[in-house]
Amino acid sequence: MEDRIRNSENGTEGADAEKRLKCEWCGEALPEDELLKEADLGRVCRRCADALRSRGERLVIEDE
Ligand SMILES: [Zn+2]
Repeated sequence: MEDRIRNSENGTEGADAEKRLKCEWCGEALPEDELLKEADLGRVCRRCADALRSRGERLVIEDE
């Protein structure tokens, strides 16, 4: 009913096609392939990974 209409308005495009996961660092929800799996931090987005690297942090990316 009304809820269904509201849901389809809120739904992001292609929401069912890709699952979104949260970056452990900034909390932003991103498609899984935008996130890197870091050994200690968990999933972090590329932006956070770059920021951490530029601060001199050593990241251990498991799937890069
Ligand atoms: Zn992030």
